[in-house]
Amino acid sequence: MDLENVPSGISDLQMTRRLVGAARVTYIDVPWGLLSPGTGGVQLGVQEFRGIPVSPGVAIGRVVVVNDDRHVVSKRPIAKAMVQAECDRLDAALAASLDELAELRTLAEEQLGKEAAAIFAFHQGMLCDPTLTGPIRTRIEADHVNAEYAVQEQFRTLARRFAGMGDTAFSTKVDDVWDLDDRVLRHLTGSAPHVGATIGEGSIVVATDLTPSQTAAFPRGKVLGFVTDRGGSTSHTAIFARALGIPAAVGAGTLTAVARDDEEIIVDGDLGVIVLRPDDATKAKYGRIIERATAFKETLAKSRELPAQTTDGECVSLLGNIEFGEEAATVLEQGGTGVGLFRTEFLWLTSDHDPTEEEQFEEYRAAAIASKGSPITIRTFDLGADKLTQAQAAAPERNPFLGCRSIRYCLQNIPMFRCQLRAIMRASAFGTVRIMFPLVTNVSELRQARMILSDVIEELDDEGVKIDRAVEVGMMIEAPSAAVMAASFAREVDFFSIGTNDLIQYTLAVDRTNERVANLYSGAHPAVIKLIKEIARAARRRGVETSICGELAGDPNYTMLLLGLGLRTLSVTANRIPHLKAVVRSVDIGQCESLARRVGSLDSERQVSAYLRAEARKRFPELVDGRTGDEEPG
Ligand code: PEP
Ligand code: MG
Repeated sequence: MDLENVPSGISDLQMTRRLVGAARVTYIDVPWGLLSPGTGGVQLGVQEFRGIPVSPGVAIGRVVVVNDDRHVVSKRPIAKAMVQAECDRLDAALAASLDELAELRTLAEEQLGKEAAAIFAFHQGMLCDPTLTGPIRTRIEADHVNAEYAVQEQFRTLARRFAGMGDTAFSTKVDDVWDLDDRVLRHLTGSAPHVGATIGEGSIVVATDLTPSQTAAFPRGKVLGFVTDRGGSTSHTAIFARALGIPAAVGAGTLTAVARDDEEIIVDGDLGVIVLRPDDATKAKYGRIIERATAFKETLAKSRELPAQTTDGECVSLLGNIEFGEEAATVLEQGGTGVGLFRTEFLWLTSDHDPTEEEQFEEYRAAAIASKGSPITIRTFDLGADKLTQAQAAAPERNPFLGCRSIRYCLQNIPMFRCQLRAIMRASAFGTVRIMFPLVTNVSELRQARMILSDVIEELDDEGVKIDRAVEVGMMIEAPSAAVMAASFAREVDFFSIGTNDLIQYTLAVDRTNERVANLYSGAHPAVIKLIKEIARAARRRGVETSICGELAGDPNYTMLLLGLGLRTLSVTANRIPHLKAVVRSVDIGQCESLARRVGSLDSERQVSAYLRAEARKRFPELVDGRTGDEEPG
């Protein structure tokens, strides 16, 4: 969006809103031509847009444009005698908002899963936080202004603070702030909630951006897909679309400027392509893609019971990454043989209070039991950066990815850390539990963490609690410092897990959540591949088991390379396990090693990525982007 084109006279507040999820059309730089509003009977042709694919699959449906109808309130003086009544009005609006959020959270948890529900838990936490609501009341009392204005000013300050961080992870928080602002203002002004009344069967929602509340209000089963002009791969729309299992693309730029209600539209959530007003040939092509994808899913389902073994008999462990204990069962259902990464921080992010030892114990025990004896690797809280507690959210760091996150945060919050370790150790009596520390960058923090763990073990022993004293302890390798020093770390742990999501960002100095540099974020960079190779070699020499658990591990383009570099354990989102099994079962280790040697001779990311794609497409085309080459849209 071109700020220069915003007409003078528009308030700062209105402008901020246009920037954070704004009303549609007017000031966007688009090739208008015949496409401006009110083109009457002019027949418009096919238009194609490119966005970021965030939820896989293809859908053909009809456009429903969802407008952003946010409140704009003005400042009103309040007589001194009315100040208490105004504060009471504020309290009532906050209480009603909290009640509504509790309902939404329960509904989201039942229908969309815990990740979506976590968004509303975060909203609840914010509204309960006196550092957010206190200044609103103070403003009413001190300046004698109306509650609406005081609310909007406070939320605007917070939104600015997040927006000023210049980081996509925080721009998602800006959306949260405006969503909450809207909710509280609705209760203050008595206006109607967002509803999905205009959404009929076969709708594809097209919006500038969608708030969690808007998305949650859409009628189940009627929405076939989402497309938004704004947003990145971590946006709320992406999370909701994946939870609903429907195709979505975000960051489509100017789609809302030209799309009209009821026009036909295709959303390709695998490739991020959007086709508006498709012709018959395009519809037929996408229709075939949908048919083949359905047939392919059935084939994958059948391979679930088969072993993950290469054609020359090498066994590969395929494990699952989970965020909630109950997902351990899904991993087994998908053909996985254990949990390679349990991201426990979601317990914090889905709760409006600090999770107690008992709550955590229940969650870890449930996961251990659901794993039915197969190993379950519980990672200690990886809080900070883009995964914030309420306290952290209220005091953003200037450089959060380089700040107090992960093991650093735990070591600065020992009671919280001990509480988690106690809960994990208690759960160790119910399965094959392993403990893993995230983002270790030097040996002393690893030793400190291990010392605290030993202390917790002694304490539980003294209390007579049943635990597995021989619990295996490992660490994630997510920073170049740990990768380079892998041989030294290997003396101190039972296992490694390579976290490529962070390893890539720290090696290439590219923020993993910032879409402006997304083109530079790639696991195919030779520096990343060299580090993975060195870690695998150092671990092998010391007999330390190594898995890989970043997103790259679930990408079939990389599977042969990873096997060729010597890795034999891949930990991925449960629904990727069948895909990886199909790749593993179609290759032999000799082929993988020669592919890895060839990759080692290439010195640019583009060459590596082109070579990996070409090889994957040659050997297992149906597994790459879920498409066969002949069906790629033009
Ligand atoms: C990683 O960094 O690769 C990883 C698995 O951890 P997370 O994505 O939770 O940071
Ligand atoms: Mg990480």
